[in-house]
Amino acid sequence: MDWNDNTYFDICVIGSGPAGIIVALEYASNNPEKSVILVEYGNKNQSKENALDNSISLANKVNHHPPYECTNKGLGGTSATWGGRCVSYDEVDFLDRPVLEGNCTWDLSLFEDVKKFMAPAARYFECGTPAFDLTELRHIPYKPVAEGFKKGVVTDSALERWSMPTRFGKRYADDIERQHNLTLLQGVEARDFSSPDGDDNISYLHVREVRTGVLTKIKATAFVLAAGAQETTRLLLRNTQLFNNIGGKPDALGKYYQGHLSGKIASVKFKGNPKKTDYGFIRDTDGTYLRRRFQFDNKFLQANNLLNTAIWLDNPLYFDPKHRSGAMSFMYMAMITPVLGKKLAPPAIAHSVTKGKVNNLPGHLSNICRGLPNSLLKPASIFYKRYLLKRKLPGVFLFSPDNCYALHFHSEQTPNAQSNMLLGSDGESLIINYELTDADVASVIKLHEVLDESLKESGCGELKYWFSKDELPEAIKTMSKDGLHQNGTTRIADSSQLGVVDRNLKVWGTKNVFVCSSSVFPTSGQANPTFFLGAFAVRLAHHLNKVMTISGPEKITTELIEPC
Ligand SMILES: Cc1cc2nc3c(=O)[nH]c(=O)nc-3n(C[C@H](O)[C@H](O)[C@H](O)COP(=O)(O)OP(=O)(O)OC[C@H]3O[C@@H](n4cnc5c(N)ncnc54)[C@H](O)[C@@H]3O)c2cc1C
Repeated sequence: MDWNDNTYFDICVIGSGPAGIIVALEYASNNPEKSVILVEYGNKNQSKENALDNSISLANKVNHHPPYECTNKGLGGTSATWGGRCVSYDEVDFLDRPVLEGNCTWDLSLFEDVKKFMAPAARYFECGTPAFDLTELRHIPYKPVAEGFKKGVVTDSALERWSMPTRFGKRYADDIERQHNLTLLQGVEARDFSSPDGDDNISYLHVREVRTGVLTKIKATAFVLAAGAQETTRLLLRNTQLFNNIGGKPDALGKYYQGHLSGKIASVKFKGNPKKTDYGFIRDTDGTYLRRRFQFDNKFLQANNLLNTAIWLDNPLYFDPKHRSGAMSFMYMAMITPVLGKKLAPPAIAHSVTKGKVNNLPGHLSNICRGLPNSLLKPASIFYKRYLLKRKLPGVFLFSPDNCYALHFHSEQTPNAQSNMLLGSDGESLIINYELTDADVASVIKLHEVLDESLKESGCGELKYWFSKDELPEAIKTMSKDGLHQNGTTRIADSSQLGVVDRNLKVWGTKNVFVCSSSVFPTSGQANPTFFLGAFAVRLAHHLNKVMTISGPEKITTELIEPC
């Protein structure tokens, strides 16, 4: 494009992952007279290594995946390898509980407002109607997840919905190209903002061409930082002049980094008819895959000071041939095969299946031989559905004739100031500290006990633990590994004393810089963050419609509206 230091845009969006693409497309299509530029670090032919990921150091390699497994660079960002699980946040995530130690800095009124934008977000994610409970779907009648299950403190109707999974780069490249007022700039890194003027306005951003290092200015009425949580945080940490008018950077910037505790510590053995257990996927009328999960009554969690957690039925551990399933052994062996394994799943997902172990190959071969021909037919049908169809089978859950399933937990973390992102002494590199707290671990254990009691009380079944009670905390601490879900480091709050952005995602101390990233979420809930972030992205685009009044190089003005 023809572009120089004097080219002016109404909106400059930094980062073209799901968040950046949604804000840019939604705003540009609703405002054909306005100009939008989407600045993306990655290139069309993105090389395997990049300077951003190379300059991240991790203090905790047990519980955090290495940088290259956590994000991707290039059009579409990390959606190039994401799994596509779409879930909602829950009410309890917006309610203060003592265990959060005053760090729940958003509230229910914001949740209610963001929900209004879930329907358009669901269209971007191609995950059907944004109904996240079976009871909201009239066409799929509720039946208990297993024979004899009774809803109470534990619920069995919460749903996850699955995206295609939509690869935002591929899916929206043509839409971006067609959108006459939207310019995409690839291979360009956002670097330094101007300082705020007396009205808190930021007038330009310096960007650097990654290949040549050439610096150029982008002038815009408003800037949206959608560079993913860690890069958005790094940009703000490098640009503390943004906070000149409020006496320096907010204390919360870079702190309270949260992901999820995740893993398996028990199986459930149901007592009823195995054929009546709803263990697999449900198809919605439009073909979207849905799946049920155990969750816990919000009031119960609040009253008992517990962390929000989802638990779903899963397969036994793939790497251990004790499961005796030929199909599982075949899939495990495919996943550990060099080259092939890498093609079947991104490393972080592959690790959740193989646990990085090459284990008892004779045992697996014996399972495969014993289970022929199903050991091969089942994986073949899964391969077809998972890799060759447009809407892909999101996962593999196998029927258990014994009515016994592993339980997979996915649990909220406490916002902890010691889990943080900091700049290194060179002012460029990013240090990531990530910890699991005793409260995080205790909550996972307690909620398994609650599930066990509830199943026993109704006579539906019971839990079989894989570890002794004493071993559980250490087992949870060593099995949990995240870094894929990144929340908390630029959190929403009603003041710069408590957070980094306001409830309209505007950076405190500025009038026209916004953050659109899961880093704004003060709590992590049980939810994988991207769908909810998509709803925030649509909301931000609509908010920008309202606040942008006069544009042009002569006058950069934004009119602030009251929080929705
Ligand atoms: C293997 C895997 C599986 C996942 N599965 C799920 C799932 O099932 N469900 C779910 O909810 N989430 C999942 N996630 C997380 C999900 O991918 C992220 O939450 C989501 O992609 C975040 O979107 P984003 O737009 O904020 O950032 P990203 O998608 O990371 O995009 C940010 C973009 O900004 C660019 N950028 C960075 N710095 C700069 C800069 N300085 N200048 C210009 N551009 C810059 C990057 O190149 C990138 O393209 C998964 C992640 C991984 C790695």
